[in-house]
Amino acid sequence: MVITTLADNLTRGFETFGDTVSESLFEPVIRLGVTGLSRAGKTVFITSLVANLMDRGRMPGLLAASEGRISAAFLQPQPNDAVPRFDYETHLAALTAPKPHWPDSTRAISELRLSLRVRPSGLLSGFTGPRTVHIDIGDYPGEWLLDLSLMDKGYAQWSETVLTALRKREDAADFVDKAGSAEADATWTEPQIKSLAASYTDTLHAGRAAGLSGLTPGRFLLPGEKEGSPALTFAPLPPLERPARGSLWREMERRYNAYKREIVTPFFRDHFSRIDRQIVLVDALSAIHAGPPAVADLQSTMTDVLGAFRPGTNAFLSRLFVGRRVEKVLFAATKADHLHHTQHARLTEIIEALTREARNRADFAGAETGGMAIAALRATVEETREHKGQPLDCVRGKLLDSGRQAAFYPGELPENPQSLLGAAQSGATTWLDADYEIMKFAPAPLSLRPGEGPPHIRLDRAAQFLLGDRL
Ligand code: GDP
Repeated sequence: MVITTLADNLTRGFETFGDTVSESLFEPVIRLGVTGLSRAGKTVFITSLVANLMDRGRMPGLLAASEGRISAAFLQPQPNDAVPRFDYETHLAALTAPKPHWPDSTRAISELRLSLRVRPSGLLSGFTGPRTVHIDIGDYPGEWLLDLSLMDKGYAQWSETVLTALRKREDAADFVDKAGSAEADATWTEPQIKSLAASYTDTLHAGRAAGLSGLTPGRFLLPGEKEGSPALTFAPLPPLERPARGSLWREMERRYNAYKREIVTPFFRDHFSRIDRQIVLVDALSAIHAGPPAVADLQSTMTDVLGAFRPGTNAFLSRLFVGRRVEKVLFAATKADHLHHTQHARLTEIIEALTREARNRADFAGAETGGMAIAALRATVEETREHKGQPLDCVRGKLLDSGRQAAFYPGELPENPQSLLGAAQSGATTWLDADYEIMKFAPAPLSLRPGEGPPHIRLDRAAQFLLGDRL
């Protein structure tokens, strides 16, 4: 065990050294991680970001673009042959078709390399010609980050945490009964484990449908190609004093450890530990719509996610991050086009408040963090309507279900985000005011002028935060 860890360290250390030398001397590489829970908007974000970096007419907030220093942008073969390529062309075709539709969402990790020819700014500009900066964009499910919390937990401890949370949920009663009555000390059978794992996975899906986000193991929700393997087929069981060898409890423990070793460790070692800059997309509006428990859960999930960027607090991560760190982390509330711009500042305050507790921790030294409200693809237009003699700031778009054009007033976000978070923390189940209304818009048909990418909200500012200082 110690030997493998040492070997891991050496490999990463060597790679890091090699990367640093070649990058600073020749062509710098920025490794941008894009994550967020399922449906947060990762696929749409990457597609629109790349399209807007290729055609930069709508990117005034990215200084290198507005100063005219980017002379070319092109896609190149990615350096990692073993990772699927992000299917940019298909996703862009979906969004720009005569009858546009949303692309297929992220289900696993993928990568894309975008290279920019950039003229340096400032003092260097007179001395050096343009150079190529590579941006390696890595897309991965946020659910996988939550698995980090398993790394310093044994099976018994994880089971206890999970079962304590499940006992508070009515929709998990069936599984809690099954786990409680399983003969954990007796010999196991595969159908028995499969049935417990399936029932546990149902509680994860039900939790997700109810708007909960802190659900582990993350791969049970998005299994990928390893679905059905023993490492992905286990479930939590109540503690057992001295479980017998060959018992159900021991087998579940063995599989839990295999999950950590075979699934979680390779992801953090081969992908996560290479990221320089990270954007975490958060569908805060859907959580607000789902109600206080979903917002409280989102807040604690954000704390867990931020934990992944504080390697100092986790022995497993510290070993992987020898000598390097994530430099910037941007938390972006997505789908801001669901709101009139007069409410965007409030959405930004909510995303900042959601992550403040974790960001304020004294031990969060290292990464620069930020919060922003964005829409990677604007699907609405703003409209002010008269309602009971008062002007009402609405957004109008084509509804996804019916195809009908409709103007919406989703409700007012609170001026003070604490009123949302406070209600969530005090265990309220519904909001005091009228419910915040959710809507689903179809992407609008685009008629792009030459040199223009798809319409967005603050995508250029997000790009400036994440990449600007390196261009
Ligand atoms: P992923 O699971 O994180 O890859 O999420 P996607 O990028 O596939 O987005 C999920 C869904 O959110 C899409 O199908 C759209 O319905 C919606 N969506 C994502 N980005 C935007 C946006 O900028 N504006 C609007 N109105 N909807 C969006």
